This record gives sequence, structure tokens and C-alpha cells, in this order.
Amino acid sequence: MIHDWHPKCLIPVQIHPQKLPRITKNPSTITHMRTLTFDNRLTRELPQDPIKPVYQRQVANALWSMAQPTPVKNPQLLAYSPDVANLLGLTPADMQDSELIQTLGGNGALAGMMTYATRYGGHQFGHWAGQLGDGRAIYLGELIHAGKRFELQLKGAGETPYSRSADGRAVLRSSLREFLCSEAMHHLGIPTTRALSLVSTGDLVRRDMFYNGNPEMEPGAIVCRVAPSFTRPGHFELMANKGEHHLLKRFIGFTIDRDFSQWLAATGLPLDQHNPSPELIEAWFEEICERTAILMAHWMRVGFVHGVMNTDNLSIIGLTIDYGPYGWIDHFDPEWTPNTTDAQGKRYCFGRQPDVARWNMERLADALATLLPDTEGLADAISHYDHTYIKHLTQSLAGKFGLGPWQDSDGDLVNRIFELMTRAEIDMTLFFSKLAELDLAQPSINTISPAFYTESGLKQFGNDIQQWLNTYAKRIQQNKQSPKQRIEKMQAYNPRYVLRNYMAQEAIDCLINDGDNKRLLSLLALLKNPYTQQPGMEQFEQKRPDWARQKAGCSMLSCSS
Ligand code: AMP
Ligand code: MG
Repeated sequence: MIHDWHPKCLIPVQIHPQKLPRITKNPSTITHMRTLTFDNRLTRELPQDPIKPVYQRQVANALWSMAQPTPVKNPQLLAYSPDVANLLGLTPADMQDSELIQTLGGNGALAGMMTYATRYGGHQFGHWAGQLGDGRAIYLGELIHAGKRFELQLKGAGETPYSRSADGRAVLRSSLREFLCSEAMHHLGIPTTRALSLVSTGDLVRRDMFYNGNPEMEPGAIVCRVAPSFTRPGHFELMANKGEHHLLKRFIGFTIDRDFSQWLAATGLPLDQHNPSPELIEAWFEEICERTAILMAHWMRVGFVHGVMNTDNLSIIGLTIDYGPYGWIDHFDPEWTPNTTDAQGKRYCFGRQPDVARWNMERLADALATLLPDTEGLADAISHYDHTYIKHLTQSLAGKFGLGPWQDSDGDLVNRIFELMTRAEIDMTLFFSKLAELDLAQPSINTISPAFYTESGLKQFGNDIQQWLNTYAKRIQQNKQSPKQRIEKMQAYNPRYVLRNYMAQEAIDCLINDGDNKRLLSLLALLKNPYTQQPGMEQFEQKRPDWARQKAGCSMLSCSS
């Protein structure tokens, strides 16, 4: 049944409604979705904000508040991920079901669903920001399929008590970016939240994309995100900050029991869900540090830059979460940040990500310390972060360069080429694809010259890079592995296709200007096999085209989404 919710005072205006494509077959017929299994543990077991109406406010001593999606004018399914549908037990026929599509657009809820927003805080750009919370993500509950539990969330579904004077909505451009990138990350083998669907709402959203006082109306959209848990360090930080120690303990116990059950079983430690022991809290924190360090090594391996690594935008279970002004490294540059708001400070630039994640772990440690007799165990866990990151980074680098087992002296070799790549403006992804093709008997810069962005870079740094290639070839010859093994290893660590910023922007332009979702769907298919060369897809193996160098959405991203 679709619940009959009354729209708030909302006067939607349509732009090019006829242009947006849909893969909904027959939207005029309302079908009834078969029953799915939900088991909403979070809302059943954890304290609720007693105030029911949705208005923006500070909430105390509760983990969640009631929130219902605000209905939209005309939800249309623009794309969905067949893989995620399958994970949830949804068939292709289900994905055409009008009741399900209405639900994914925020017009109702299916039987068993529970709709709510959670309360969290966080450090933004290094400063405590107080209460934040799910301001535009509304949970649909916890779906159970094939013995697995998935939280579902609609991002952009309307106001909640945590909307902080904003509208609770999301624009199509940012929703498409989240939809595509979360799927791309998954297929790269990187832990991430997933995306089931991208639905256009038929309503317009007002955004000042360049923060220059010229807001414009843009088409709105909603992504249905899926993850075992959307919990963030910020959830725990806010409870600690407010002195809600009882709730903090309870939420840690709940999280360990629900989201870390396999890990818990492996530790053999006992869990009192209402009063987890200091020993368990410390061990659990070490596990969070480990997952976060592994995630950072992955991001650095593929050139992903999150863009807003505030403590509310990090996942407690080690997933990539909250895709906003993220970007992918084209020209290798540790100081590059995609986020216009971060252009000066560069707090969240590519090269600083591992340090920022560590800083975020320290903020989580501060919160947990309020429950512990001393901080020794927490400090050990932070050291564990450092060791884990170095271990996984060196493993990744050894794989990327095809070095065989990492040797201490490899650090200098690798740092030297990263420095040259930055100064000479060399494309990261293309460089590593080409490096695998290098003739080790006669290494030549010609093999990697397609990865240079400028002639002058090639001219100025050509000799240095040729020298580096000679040294590299000698180093590789110490390898115990065969040339074939080396190439296979490099290909397993170096994606051929990543969601370059301009590629996502082209898919957005096709959709918004021409009402064409073919580019979006072809990218979704391409990025499913990012490590394998795909015939006919050569254009996506090239470096960023010149026209995209300074274009908004392709080189710099705004937080406005
Ligand atoms: P973000 O930087 O996107 O992670 O958002 C920071 C905080 O602002 C979170 O609490 C979000 O829920 C909230 N927020 C961001 N955009 C909106 C919006 N359009 N409406 C309501 N809340 C928002
Ligand atoms: Mg966020």
C-alpha cells in the first residue's frame, strides 16, 4: 500500500519534463509490490525522539526521529543497478513496479518499511559543528534478504528535524554522481555504500551552484542508497559531546551486535549490549581504525578524492560514504582537491586523505575515551591505523608498479616518479596502464608519453623520466615473478577505467539537456569491469580531454548539491 501522505506546501515547477527519459514501462498502472522482509532493529531497540512532527530542532537523548519523505510530483526511474537489486532480492520485474518506483521517489512506503532520520554530529573542516544529522537522507528501514541485512535510505527525500534550514532535497547532477560513483567504487573492489536507484522527482530545486548569489532552479532527484549500516563517527561524537553516556554505551553495544557480529564472533569477547566492556570498546575501535586505514590505501591506489572528509562523512564500518564534491585524479597531484570550498585550505586534497582519516579516528577516540578508565588502548589502536595503512599502501604500490615483494628502497623509487608525475603533469590512470606495457629490455619514454598532458612537460622532464624508467627496469629485473605474472598483477591493481570527472559531467549534460540516459547506462556498464579492456571503449581509456580542464563539474566541484 502507498501511504497517503499530504504534500507540504510545495509548488513544483517542471523543466523539460518530457525530456527526461524513464525506464518505467507503464507508469499509469499502479501495481502492488510483493511483500519484502523488513526487520527494523534500529528503531525498535534504540531510543526515539518523542516529538513526532517534522520541524528543525535540537534533539536530545535519542538516536532517531520520525521523518517521512515529502511527496514529489512525478517520480521517474532513470536508472537502477541490477546488481544491487539482485542483492536485495528485487527482480527486473520488481524494478518496473509502479508502487516500488513511487516509493523510491518518496511517494509512500512499502509494507514493513519504517521511515526515520538519525541524529549525529561531527567535526567539519577541523571544527566541532554540533548537531548535524540526516538532513536529507530518510531511512526506509532494514531489509532482510538471503540472510543479510541492508539499511535503505532515500537521499534528497525532503526535510527532517535535522535539515538545518535547508530543503532536504538533492539535485539531479549530484544524485547521478552519487549513483554512478558508488557502483563504480564497488566494482573497483573498494568498500562503499551502494546505490539501488536514481529517480527524477519532476520537481525543481533551487541551488546557488557557484555560491555567487545567482541561484538557479535545477531538476531534483533521489538516490536510494544501500549499506549494511550508515552509522558514522559523528553519531558517537554527538552523544559524548552532550554527556549522554548511557546512550553512547547503548549505541556502541547495538552497533557491535548488529554491524560487527562476524568480527565479534572472531574475537571471542563477550558483549553486554547495554554496557560493553572497556576491553571490547578498545578492540572494536581498533577494528574501525583498521577498516578505515584499508579504505584510505584503496582511495590512494585508484586516485579517488572524497572532497569532504568531515567526521560525519566517514563510515563506522569502513565504507566510502556520502559522495558529494568528490573527484578523480587526472594529472597526478597530491595537492589536488575537487572541492571549491577547500581550494584555499586543501584540507581534503588527495595526498592528505590518510592523515585526515587518522585525525577523524582521533576524534572518535575522544568520544570513546569518555567511557574508558584510560586512553592507552585507544592510542594503541591509532598506532594500528598507521601500521595498517603503511602495510596496505606498500602492498598496493608494489602491485601498481609490479615490483614483487616490497623492499624498503622502493620508497625512494616510487616517490621520485610521483614527484616527476606531479611536475610534468602526467595522468595517473594512464601512466600505470602504460607502465605495464614497458619493454624492460629497452625501456623507452615513448611507451608512457600518451600520459603527459603537455608537450612542455614531456620536453622539460623527459630525460629525468627516461632515467627513472631505466632504474625501474633494473629494479624489476630483480623480480622473482615472470613477466606475465608481473603484468597480471599490475592489471589487477591498476584500473583502466575510472569515473573521471568529465565522464560523469557528460552523463549529466546528456540527461539534463537532451533527456538521454544512454550515456549514464553505458558508463554504469563500463565501470562494472574497470580492470578489463573493453573493445569499443577506447575513448574512456584516454586522459581528460582539454575542454574539461577548467570546466565546472570536470575540474572543480561545488558542495552545492
Ligand atoms: P554534507 O556536507 O553533505 O555531508 O552535509 C552536512 C550536513 O548538512 C548533514 O547534516 C546533511 O544532512 C545536511 N544537508 C546537506 N544538504 C542538505 C539539504 N539540501 N537539506 C537538508 N540538509 C542538508
Ligand atoms: Mg554528509
